[in-house]
Amino acid sequence: MSFSAIDPQSGLLKPIQWFIEHNIRAGICSVCGDAIGVRADKTVRTSAHFAHERGSSCPTVTGNRTRYENMGASQYDDEQAKFLRNAVSEHIYEIFINFQALTEGGKIQEFRDALSKADELRIWRYLGLTIPFVPYILVTLVEQFNKKDSVFRKDDFFFILPSEIRAYDHLWIRANIKKKVIKMSTKLHVLDEFTIRESLTPVLHPAWFDNSLASLTKLDS
Ligand SMILES: [Zn+2]
Repeated sequence: MSFSAIDPQSGLLKPIQWFIEHNIRAGICSVCGDAIGVRADKTVRTSAHFAHERGSSCPTVTGNRTRYENMGASQYDDEQAKFLRNAVSEHIYEIFINFQALTEGGKIQEFRDALSKADELRIWRYLGLTIPFVPYILVTLVEQFNKKDSVFRKDDFFFILPSEIRAYDHLWIRANIKKKVIKMSTKLHVLDEFTIRESLTPVLHPAWFDNSLASLTKLDS
């Protein structure tokens, strides 16, 4: 259930109230780009919201998120799995630091749970997977990050992949798909987008860190 959409005329993101006031019945989903319709604005029990067509694969649709667990890859390599998992252990601190930046103060327990899920799904055998992708994949395996678990979080949120992705390896094999993860609030507002970087280092800075030190980092020489 979404409460904002892109106005097809202007290309700007507008709240549902704006659509109702202008009597516009459909907008564009800011995540998947599909048309979404205004629903339930005349009923009392449900507040007005936007809805996708039935069968939409948009990751904002409830229930579509768990599809990441079943998504897999188009090709597997068990040999790669062995050395990649070892490489993950060697770079575990760098992976954690990136995970923490993406998740605004992710706890070691959240990281541990995500890593166990990755082990369970055996993501290490996804052909072509490399270390820099690992923290970004780990965050998509967590159902939800809760505001109450970190002082740096302003919302409850979760991560989704670009909606065109049908298998994890599309992230690195499909040139026409943006290599990124999207941070969505549980109210389905896009909070942030992170382009997947080619290397774990230099380490990704959390936004709160850069914001809080912005005034200190510029030194005249
Ligand atoms: Zn959508």
